[in-house]
Amino acid sequence: MDLRLWLIRMHIASVSLSKFCFLCSLAFCCLLLLLIPTLQPPPRLLDLPQPRPQARPAGTKQSHHGQVPAGSAGGSETQGRLVQTKESRNENQSPKRGTETDGGPVSESKSLDTLELKDIFIAVKTTRKYHKSRLELLIQTWVSRAKEQTYIFTDGEDRELQVRTGTNIINTNCSAAHNRQALCCKMSVEYDKFLESQKKWFCHMDDDNYVILPSLLRLLSSYHHSQDIYLGRPSLDHPIEAAERVKSDGSVSVKFWFATGGAGFCISRGLALKMSPWASLGNFISTAEKIRLPDDCTIGYIIEALLEVTLTHTHLFHSHLENLQKLPVDTVLDQVTLSYGGFENRRNVVSVAGSFSLAEDPTRFKAIHCLLYPDTGWCPESHPEH
Ligand code: UDP
Ligand code: MN
Repeated sequence: MDLRLWLIRMHIASVSLSKFCFLCSLAFCCLLLLLIPTLQPPPRLLDLPQPRPQARPAGTKQSHHGQVPAGSAGGSETQGRLVQTKESRNENQSPKRGTETDGGPVSESKSLDTLELKDIFIAVKTTRKYHKSRLELLIQTWVSRAKEQTYIFTDGEDRELQVRTGTNIINTNCSAAHNRQALCCKMSVEYDKFLESQKKWFCHMDDDNYVILPSLLRLLSSYHHSQDIYLGRPSLDHPIEAAERVKSDGSVSVKFWFATGGAGFCISRGLALKMSPWASLGNFISTAEKIRLPDDCTIGYIIEALLEVTLTHTHLFHSHLENLQKLPVDTVLDQVTLSYGGFENRRNVVSVAGSFSLAEDPTRFKAIHCLLYPDTGWCPESHPEH
């Protein structure tokens, strides 16, 4: 080939090659520009709960709380320590899986919306005959540290107690009987008063519960009240089954978990509002009547079976249906609720270091209170070992 012709051809070839390279790099740059937004980390979803270690539901005996035909199945009691498992990583926040909570790190968005004790509505269910024997102890201990937001729901007047202690005591005018109707009547009033209160969280307690307020605040702070959150401890190790008489004619049954009332439970405002068609203004009593279950089961039924929101199982709540002695001494103050009572015919109280004898403090609530608030007037100055 003629050298000149060859050179011309080479020139043309190199020009088209560099053109081709130029076009390629242009296309690559465009591609990069398009990819930049997708390569950035995804924006943080506001107010989603952090993934939590999963809980094993506790298997315990049942009392009137959730007395259901299903009966209780054994199961081992765990000790209030948090058990972390790989499976508990609930990255997708599936609404169908409840997880253990430990008040873990709070996301940046939450620090802008810090939860305070005054945001929590604490309802205590009691009855006239327990004002002296049970309620006074609560008023003397934890209720005194949360007076404004704690409401006592009872079935008889006690002006003297109200005036002397300055506690919010609400006479529900419900019957003082210990039956489903009477207990559901109280729960119904608790629920309505909570909605009225505009507070962010509803927590129900029995009059034999000690609420460790800093732990409660820590636990609820790891969620947002606008989410659908139902937190508590089941007394059974399996869901209960009931005939579906609200959505259908009772020919089919539904299975659902419920948090035992005796250990206390909490519901976010967002979820409580959704419960309204079945829970507000007397509807709670008719819902409970339809399924013929106690108050705490009815709460579980409305939330899990009707609203399809899952109970978040937590081991931080305790009733006297479990062996409280098994709770390790060094974890007692980290729990959210404690209780006392009979368990397998023995006195069932938590083991706690403190300066009161069992005779002075048979429930151990005074000892716990003095460990939490040593500045309390009636607490001993020092804590000699007993
Ligand atoms: N209670 C009530 N009316 C009654 C008996 C009990 O409202 O006639 C309340 C009581 O104050 C407590 C809860 O129901 O808050 C559970 O009662 P208890 O601890 O006696 O029963 P258990 O825990 O053994 O089921
Ligand atoms: Mn009890």
